[in-house]
Amino acid sequence: MFDMSEEHDSTTQLALIRQLKFCAGHRLYRHESKCAFFHGHNYRVDIEVVPAAGGGEVDVVGRVVDFSLIKRRMLGWLDANWDHAFLVFEEDENALAAVRMVEPTKYFVMPWNPTAENMARYLLEVVAPNVLGDLGVVARRVAVWETEEACAVATRSGNALPPCELAAAVCVDARS
Ligand SMILES: [Zn+2]
Repeated sequence: MFDMSEEHDSTTQLALIRQLKFCAGHRLYRHESKCAFFHGHNYRVDIEVVPAAGGGEVDVVGRVVDFSLIKRRMLGWLDANWDHAFLVFEEDENALAAVRMVEPTKYFVMPWNPTAENMARYLLEVVAPNVLGDLGVVARRVAVWETEEACAVATRSGNALPPCELAAAVCVDARS
């Protein structure tokens, strides 16, 4: 006979995935081959968000959060800081000198080498907690596609991180 008091540990976890696209330049500091040259990519980011409280919590409409809010917050940040910018590792003084010399210029100083792995990690650990914090969702996974065939994935385990300091692009443009 079916025991109604039996505890079931099956739960449903809801998540949303939003695609975001931007273009940026970078080079990989200390790379042993062609990635040490200045070059760029048409990047695609897949960001997966889950309810901050976990599980299948939805609003009165039945949403984890409206897709347009993820786009507005995350793509807004990407457009302002990484799109058409040059991503430079803070220890790469030679590349920093170059991007500071050209005018107009837009560059973003990264605390780590700007590999797809580190970009995914930065979006997950630093950007998402700052820009999504008040929406009741947290980012669980970020994939950064550098080409149509290759992506790096950063996945959070454990509790959400508190927001840490978020850097901004340096933009020098005498035309504006
Ligand atoms: Zn590259």
